[in-house]
Amino acid sequence: MERLQNYIHGRYAASTANATFDNVNPATGEVFAQVEPALEAEVDAAIRSAEQGFQRWSAMSGPERGRVLHTAARLLRERNRELALLEVRDTGKPIQEAEAVDVASGADCLEYFAGVASTLRGEQIALGSAFVYTRREPLGVCAGIGAWNYPIQIACWKSAPALACGNAMVFKTSDMTPTTAAKLAEIYTEAGLPDGAFNVVHGDGRTGALLTGDPRVAKVSLTGSIGTGKKVLAAAAQSVKRVTMELGGKSALIVFPDADLHQAVSAAMLGNFYTQGEICTNCTRVFVHDDIHDRFLDLLAERTKKLRVGDPLDPETQVGALISRAHMERVLGYIASGKAEGARLVLGGARADVGPQAGGNFVLPTIFADCTDDMTIVREEIFGPVMSVLRFSDEDEAVRRANATRFGLAAGLFTRDLARAHRVAARLEAGICWVNTYNVTPIEMPFGGMKESGVGHENGQAAIEHYTQLKSVFVELGDVPCPYE
Ligand code: NDP
Repeated sequence: MERLQNYIHGRYAASTANATFDNVNPATGEVFAQVEPALEAEVDAAIRSAEQGFQRWSAMSGPERGRVLHTAARLLRERNRELALLEVRDTGKPIQEAEAVDVASGADCLEYFAGVASTLRGEQIALGSAFVYTRREPLGVCAGIGAWNYPIQIACWKSAPALACGNAMVFKTSDMTPTTAAKLAEIYTEAGLPDGAFNVVHGDGRTGALLTGDPRVAKVSLTGSIGTGKKVLAAAAQSVKRVTMELGGKSALIVFPDADLHQAVSAAMLGNFYTQGEICTNCTRVFVHDDIHDRFLDLLAERTKKLRVGDPLDPETQVGALISRAHMERVLGYIASGKAEGARLVLGGARADVGPQAGGNFVLPTIFADCTDDMTIVREEIFGPVMSVLRFSDEDEAVRRANATRFGLAAGLFTRDLARAHRVAARLEAGICWVNTYNVTPIEMPFGGMKESGVGHENGQAAIEHYTQLKSVFVELGDVPCPYE
């Protein structure tokens, strides 16, 4: 049986815990590794090591830091296949997705922030006889806490901006997907990152709580559910830590009558069934105009029927396994509630029978029509392959209903009317608005939610603000203006 340890100060370190926890393959139910959790002693060691790593790393010049990130990006790309296979084993997602997206987008992120490292700067402010300038300084030790749906990508999205700005990071993996963040740590070490500048600890929420409760940690960046976000915010408040929160969503896609129907159906499918629906920004509420509703639904059902659910390692597979047995039961529970509350099941709505993978957590891509705004499946985040289709008849109504939620992560709209596209995008209460596409997240574009979906942004130049603190320096070049004798 494989064994996975915490990665502290440039190497794997044995845990003081007597017990380990299982790492389970979601597609087979097989336990393939034992993971050593980080308890108080390991979290303390990881933070102390990060403090040392921070001293060395923050003293390096921007271009030097950029070179390390560039080298790490190259190593990531070289190991794409190997890392994608590990990601599939941890998450159950299809190999074709892991190979095309997960590692590659992580490497994009490292390359982008390698450039940022060497271009970080403050500003100079002209002010009479004084010389005023600002410095962007690192925060110190940051904690990254990841969800299980995009483990290596999340580890890259958090560590690359943190490191580019001169910080050190202790990253806690989700207990269900611990493998690839530790590989990223190996890669950083090989690329020349000083020991301790990026440490990885494993464990459940208790390990995360040890990090967020520690006053030596200056900032927490969490990707997770709103419930966890509230706990982390409360813990961070005790020592007034900075926070970035990437939380849940229940996003709307609005399809206007002039939309390109084929494209809109493609976007709705991508935004509900990619990664078995385990994507925070997914457009799980699809509002379709009365005039095109029936044609849209026919096309959607016809194409969704053809999706291949099955063994994630099969390159033909398009829909893999949900992360855990408990999560699959939760998703099936939502499907049952959709049926009970009167939604019309158009497709799916059950576990998928994928033969030899009988131990796996497979659910058929599911479409509900005739949904209403008060149904549980329309109000709550399901995080599985379950789409709700709703009808609307005018623009104001669609915007009002799309916004009638505590979530505000993302939204999308399909129209050929340019004025309407910008008008509606401006009115939607969502951190990301896609027009005539969905779920495209280039590293250059800030990513973050409004309302309860989050605080702050990852990616793009916006991330720099969250991983630096601004210092103003006021240099008097004349006399001290003094009212005293
Ligand atoms: P959870 O909120 O359950 O967990 C997220 C992380 O927080 C895990 O590593 C978890 O540990 C840890 N954690 C749990 N409790 C605490 C605590 N008290 N203090 C510190 N850390 C804690 O989310 P999931 O892992 O189930 O991921 C799914 C959720 O993530 C969905 O709601 C989804 O929308 C959201 N998400 C948001 C994204 C965004 O960018 N906006 C992107 C991807 C997902 P452990 O699980 O190991 O116990």
